[in-house]
Amino acid sequence: MALIVQKYGGSSVADADKIKNVARRIVATKEKGNEVVVVVSAMGDTTDDLIQLARQINPKPQERELDVLLSTGEVVSSTLMAMALHEMGYEAVSLSGAQAGIRTDTTYSKARILHIEPKRVVKELEKGNIVIVAGFQGMTDDMDIATLGRGGSDTTAVALAAALKAQMCQIYTDVEGVFTADPRLVPEARKLKEIGYEEMLEMATLGAKVMHSRAVELGQVYKMPIMVASSFSDKPGTIIHGGISMEVRNKARGIAHDLNVAKITVVGVPDRPGIASAIFEPLAKANISVDTIVQNASIDNITDLTFTVARGDSDKAMSLVQPIAKSIGAKQCVSDSTLAKVSVVGTGMLNTPGYAANMFRALSEQGINIQLITTSEIRITCIIAEGKVKDAIQALHKAFDLEQDLI
Ligand code: ADP
Ligand code: ASP
Ligand code: MG
Repeated sequence: MALIVQKYGGSSVADADKIKNVARRIVATKEKGNEVVVVVSAMGDTTDDLIQLARQINPKPQERELDVLLSTGEVVSSTLMAMALHEMGYEAVSLSGAQAGIRTDTTYSKARILHIEPKRVVKELEKGNIVIVAGFQGMTDDMDIATLGRGGSDTTAVALAAALKAQMCQIYTDVEGVFTADPRLVPEARKLKEIGYEEMLEMATLGAKVMHSRAVELGQVYKMPIMVASSFSDKPGTIIHGGISMEVRNKARGIAHDLNVAKITVVGVPDRPGIASAIFEPLAKANISVDTIVQNASIDNITDLTFTVARGDSDKAMSLVQPIAKSIGAKQCVSDSTLAKVSVVGTGMLNTPGYAANMFRALSEQGINIQLITTSEIRITCIIAEGKVKDAIQALHKAFDLEQDLI
């Protein structure tokens, strides 16, 4: 008997009929002789709606309270899923993240799972229950609820699969797998049969929200095979794994985009030792991840320092950086939240010249201005105006021959 962890995203459980549809899929897996643990997201746009509601009450809600509020979305869908299974004559029990033994740090709204004590889950499986776990949440050492960041139910699923030593983690969503680019923006995007953890991690980190990046990271660490497929069809999905790909394939694997980008520039910074650490240390202490950092060569010992953060962190970052900028004698701080990141990803690009030039040419042919560029061994990222994203990723998909499987 195999143990399988399945996760169903928000659009798969958006209303009563969809919850019943998912319940039938869970039953089919159970009837094949498997033990099944299911992780669910909140129904449809519940999380967004709860954030809006909180802001109507208080424009800056306390993080602890907001996390408790948001965690209720997943609690609702997990209980309804258990009820749907009862109605079909199956034994099932819903558990909150805390009840499932998911322990996190105290970074509200983007907590990390520290460890899982899955005793209760194991006990319920032994009783013959299908176990439904509310995704996206865990409990801190102080028994407070913390959420794992937007899209975090994927991470609940992979972490539970690892802790329970499941055979596989299946992520069911509203697309048929991982594509060469977001299929909603690039009609020519192709479904990948398989993708390595490393490439998937880059894609997810760079904005391909089909998988939460932390989930891919855990999959890689614990060597947990992950399948991404549609909850609305039975077509084969994409396998994310650590083995060597047998597909003859393109050197570029996919195009990712991310609208969640804000740029902050500190203008007229004196160029002397200690300035960068004075600016970035307070950001790190406030748990704000800084992504791209660019500092120009100085003229007359004055330079500009530009960096990007997630849009949700932009106001907080500005409020931290502005007084520091003033104290070090910088001219001013400016922010821009109308930008986006587009990236070309692929391990095949490692040490291969010409990829950057190909990307810049494709963007320039569309008249797209590149504001910042960063690279790693297996990707190139450009920051551009958000209004140009669709044109950019369609052009890049073509320029890197991603419509075809072979080059
Ligand atoms: P869920 O609610 O099931 O977690 P998400 O909305 O978080 O679903 O993720 C699925 C969405 O990810 C798709 O609807 C698609 O628009 C988007 N997406 C972005 N990049 C990709 C990609 N490379 N492959 C597949 N889907 C992608
Ligand atoms: N409900 C949460 C969100 O909307 C978590 C998830 O769906 O994975 O981000
Ligand atoms: Mg998701």
